[in-house]
Amino acid sequence: MAGLNGGGAQRRAEIAGAGIGGLTVAAALAQRGWRVTVHERAADLRTFGAGIYIWSNGLRVLKALGAYDEATAGAHAGPLFETRDHENRVMEEIPINRPGSARLITILRETLTRSLIDICRANGVEIRTSSEVVGATPEGELLLADGKRQAADLVVGADGINSAVRDSLDLLLYRKHLGYGAVRMLIDRVDGDVAEADKDKYIEHFSGSRRILYTPASARHLYIALCCTSDDEAALRVPSDRALWSEAFPHLSHLVGRFGNAGRWDAFEVVKLKRWSSGAAAVLGDGAHAMPPYLGQGGGCALMNGLGLAVAVADADDIPAALDAWEARERPLTEHTQEQSERQGDMNLWPDALRSQVLTITGRSRELAMLRLRTAMHVPTGAVEAV
Ligand SMILES: Cc1cc2nc3c(=O)[nH]c(=O)nc-3n(C[C@H](O)[C@H](O)[C@H](O)COP(=O)(O)OP(=O)(O)OC[C@H]3O[C@@H](n4cnc5c(N)ncnc54)[C@H](O)[C@@H]3O)c2cc1C
Repeated sequence: MAGLNGGGAQRRAEIAGAGIGGLTVAAALAQRGWRVTVHERAADLRTFGAGIYIWSNGLRVLKALGAYDEATAGAHAGPLFETRDHENRVMEEIPINRPGSARLITILRETLTRSLIDICRANGVEIRTSSEVVGATPEGELLLADGKRQAADLVVGADGINSAVRDSLDLLLYRKHLGYGAVRMLIDRVDGDVAEADKDKYIEHFSGSRRILYTPASARHLYIALCCTSDDEAALRVPSDRALWSEAFPHLSHLVGRFGNAGRWDAFEVVKLKRWSSGAAAVLGDGAHAMPPYLGQGGGCALMNGLGLAVAVADADDIPAALDAWEARERPLTEHTQEQSERQGDMNLWPDALRSQVLTITGRSRELAMLRLRTAMHVPTGAVEAV
């Protein structure tokens, strides 16, 4: 069936997935007068225990949505992002949260999601849990697992890396498994994990093909990511093998000894689509442009492209043309971010000594730093500059 547009009636969007991308586009459309329903497969809207990095670009989107104050309450803002080698020597440092630099905060995923849910609800978005989507049509229908077909002016697949909406529309160009991934967990912050002078920093530690990412995520929470190759079965096990991680990172043995029993493994992938939309159906977030998390920008891109999508279609007479314009405007920066993120994984398998030498030199290059920080410094479509 054709879209419902016309006659001045309230326009309607049906969205698959209540993650970062789905909630962002839902809130932004509702704020522009659309009637919006989000279908979430899970039975509740809770996220798992982990932190998330949000750079200036994502903060600008949160500000534009009105979710910023809630999302950043209690957030941690570190003074530096450091990369350290197997002997705990600094290879690279990125200054943050100071005049002229990018802003970077870390928060609990739960806090971010809750802020987006609250802004959705405040703007009249209906969020249906236990509502599984199985596909969409270019004519503007969302197809539900219970057999219902939800007609709308716009349908959006924000249903994550295994997007059913994307696959039903035959939009996938490729999906690349990177052979690497991470176990994420949250533990309490206590003294003694790292030197007193380092405790507020973000620090990525390397040893062989493994990494430990140390991230304060609030006054009370420490977010830990244990990264390794997908065939490093002993290292990716949950609960984590403390003896194995201590042996690889002896200078972090106090921290490793405190690892909890919970944790979640995720493999890193890159997703590219032939197109981001088909007719009146669009895909965004990990379903359209997943990337490895080395730059902490997968969620940032979902936030930017969610808001950008709402801006593009808000008052458009021709939704498919507006979706084409959205893709043309947003895709180049998203692909730049994907490429820069993927490049950060190149060094995973390098010998320690080589990695130390190369990063110590490249870490001084302002040009390379600006390539990686381009996304962070961007003012997203629909956002304002100041955060
Ligand atoms: C280890 C790791 C660390 C990361 N760290 C960062 C970081 O620090 N900063 C950052 O910006 N990004 C980070 N990312 C990336 C970020 O998590 C993702 O890019 C982001 O969550 C994508 O959001 P999304 O809304 O597209 O998908 P998702 O968050 O996956 O949400 C999809 C939603 O759709 C629902 N769903 C799925 N299928 C269906 C269906 N068929 N019907 C209905 N609902 C469905 C799911 O239940 C889910 O709620 C990280 C990723 C990883 C793996």
